[in-house]
Amino acid sequence: MFFPENFPPNLTEDLKNFLLLAQEKWQKNKSPKNIKTVFRAVLKENKFLFKNIPPIWWLRFILLRWEKNFSPEFIKATKSLIKTKVRSYSGILPVAVFTKPVGCPFHCLYCPETKTLPKSYLKDEPALMRALRENFDPYSQTRNRLISLALSGHNANKVEIIIKGGTFSFYSQKYRQKFVKEVFDAANSDILKIIKTGKENFSKSKSLIEAQKLNEKAKTRIVGINIETRPDFITPQEIEFLRKLGVTHVELGVQILDDDILKKINRQQMVSQVIQATFLLKESGFKITYHLMPNLPFSSPEKDLKTFKKVFTSSFSPDHLKIYPTVIPKESKLKKLIENKVYRPYSLKKLISLLVKVKTEIIPPWVRISRLARDVSEKSILAPKIPSNLREIVLGEIKKLGKKCQCIRCREIKDKPWKGTPKLRIFNYSASEGKEYFLEFIDNNHHCLGFLRLRIPAYILNPKIKPLFSVLKDAALIRELHIYGPATPLAQKDLLFTQHRNLGKKLIAKAEKITKKLKIKKIAVISGVGVREYYRKLGYKLQQTYMVKNLK
Ligand code: SF4
Ligand SMILES: [Zn+2]
Repeated sequence: MFFPENFPPNLTEDLKNFLLLAQEKWQKNKSPKNIKTVFRAVLKENKFLFKNIPPIWWLRFILLRWEKNFSPEFIKATKSLIKTKVRSYSGILPVAVFTKPVGCPFHCLYCPETKTLPKSYLKDEPALMRALRENFDPYSQTRNRLISLALSGHNANKVEIIIKGGTFSFYSQKYRQKFVKEVFDAANSDILKIIKTGKENFSKSKSLIEAQKLNEKAKTRIVGINIETRPDFITPQEIEFLRKLGVTHVELGVQILDDDILKKINRQQMVSQVIQATFLLKESGFKITYHLMPNLPFSSPEKDLKTFKKVFTSSFSPDHLKIYPTVIPKESKLKKLIENKVYRPYSLKKLISLLVKVKTEIIPPWVRISRLARDVSEKSILAPKIPSNLREIVLGEIKKLGKKCQCIRCREIKDKPWKGTPKLRIFNYSASEGKEYFLEFIDNNHHCLGFLRLRIPAYILNPKIKPLFSVLKDAALIRELHIYGPATPLAQKDLLFTQHRNLGKKLIAKAEKITKKLKIKKIAVISGVGVREYYRKLGYKLQQTYMVKNLK
């Protein structure tokens, strides 16, 4: 019998009795608001193995598994107690899974190297703790996460898989293919059925292609797969393999754009490799995140600022940014540098002032800063103390200066209603020998409601350059389409949902119009497997892992 992770099976009978008594009491005075009062009263009047109201997701689990014992009204009433911690306000829920800990042959100075953990990670990261419990099994990690999202009130029907664990490209193709196939298998399983019946119901497909095909119409659709790797591992062969897996987004460990410092920190990569990886990935339609590390040994706030400025010149220009100010993990080689007084991390004040400058003076409006610091507990690191609310502190400083950060993250609408009629604005810029168009809908308050990235690739602008995939010949690329809005079920037709869906269609129509005007015959989308159906309805066809449309 399957029980969700972290659920105490020994309390099952008590929890059931608790809910049955609560149901009886609640039926006398039906009001969803008083359900908590009812719970408190039942707790006071009876003896259970627990003293406080149990976590609501435990109760939801009991109600789902023993559904027949409870009335639909009572089940509905308990829903009012779920306070969904909205992890995603863009309608897509992230599901992080870890590969097993063998993934990187390098020894960067700052990298935590704990033998039993994937390199570059510290054990207090929640997704990593889950992975450890499941022995890094991809199916169980995904299934458990989907179950916990479902029990905490989420509609996990659109998910983005974030594969973590250091350098993904270092693992064998065989391991990676099996890993991704099993992630798809878990998404293709009927999660609600597993919760209700306790039977595994493992959807086991024969091949990755079969698993992907099934996912096109599954209840939980994988709308994107995100991996992290080193720029020097990005080769044409690697890109072909990543597409086969269904990867849509690559996070590159860039750290700093300074060959001298890269050498001193033993990174064994060069800035020229970042340029080449960015080029290859963009020309195949991938979305790109750069990881940047201010406060590295041998750097300075001035040098860091130089990197940030350089990052937004045309040879680089990532779409997303994760800023990870250097921390000194207890197990890393950085410790020695500190002891020998070779390295002294910046004061918090210096770091904040650097981040304020980056946010207010450098970041263009088409970039999303998804992280400003690493999410680690103080226990795993020696120094420096970086407050967990660093982003809020930095935003507070920016406000004091009467300025604003223009990045997408600071402007996204979240699940608030928008003001006025959405307006389309378009930016264009040169990047990696091609031309990028950033199309976005904004409301009267400049909130971003949704955006699309269209690329006119170098292989169109320069006949000497050939695309990696034959299907991309003569095709402009849609690299990203993102519409903000609550996690709404795919088939739900409420007003908000329709509005959001229409913005997506309008952005695609505009991208097609721009492409036609440039006399380009085709458009190709690097679509996640779970979004293929959406594009099919708009006249796109699956060709070599891309959704392609011939423009007349
Ligand atoms: S490449 Fe990444 S995982 Fe490998 S040693 Fe360097 S920081 Fe750690
Ligand atoms: Zn911002």
